[in-house]
Amino acid sequence: MMIKEKDLIVCYGKRLIDRNLTTGSGGNISIYNREQNLIAISPSGLDYYDTKPEDIVIVDLDKNIVEGNLKPSSELDMHIIFYKNRDDINSIVHTHSKFATAISCMGWELPAVHYLIGMAGSSVGCADYALYGSKALAENALKAAGDNNAALLGNHGLIALGDDVESAFSTAEHLEFVSEIYYLTKSLGEPNIISNKDMADVMKKFGTYKYK
Ligand code: 13P
Ligand code: ZN
Repeated sequence: MMIKEKDLIVCYGKRLIDRNLTTGSGGNISIYNREQNLIAISPSGLDYYDTKPEDIVIVDLDKNIVEGNLKPSSELDMHIIFYKNRDDINSIVHTHSKFATAISCMGWELPAVHYLIGMAGSSVGCADYALYGSKALAENALKAAGDNNAALLGNHGLIALGDDVESAFSTAEHLEFVSEIYYLTKSLGEPNIISNKDMADVMKKFGTYKYK
């Protein structure tokens, strides 16, 4: 079942480690197959380099396990809430990348300090802190994301959304870059922030340029 999605989750899980976007088994990845109305999601607490395609769990939108012997990610509610509320989103990549997490620990939103934030929106909001794996965290994340393709999770990390796993992962990776630039510029003084009008141009242009 969902062989392609399982292979992609195994592959991008290893990339989370290789690209320094998380530590240990932190973070998680899911892909929603809208035709089958099923979600493939990484298992909870398993090292990404030990994860095999058969370890990926298939669930429905009511959290019933359709296939798989392991526990689905503890953040299943956070993945499901986006698939139920955003019909433009088919994949979610949650990371604990260092600089995005540092900004989330300040409770700050990430502003348009670099044009690449446009992969997610003209700024990225920060969800109020809630216990990992809780429904409250899922609701806070949905609210913070709004129509954007990402949200910081207070004192926790980042969630990136995409129409496929390639774009969700790419957004997570680029937002880590933007977060690091924000950290660096804040340590120098007050960075110039790109206006909403200029960010609208960036996002329009991204329609014809793929960072995937
Ligand atoms: P899981 O291993 O259960 O997916 O949890 C990792 C995590 O990042 C929780 O927020
Ligand atoms: Zn997490």
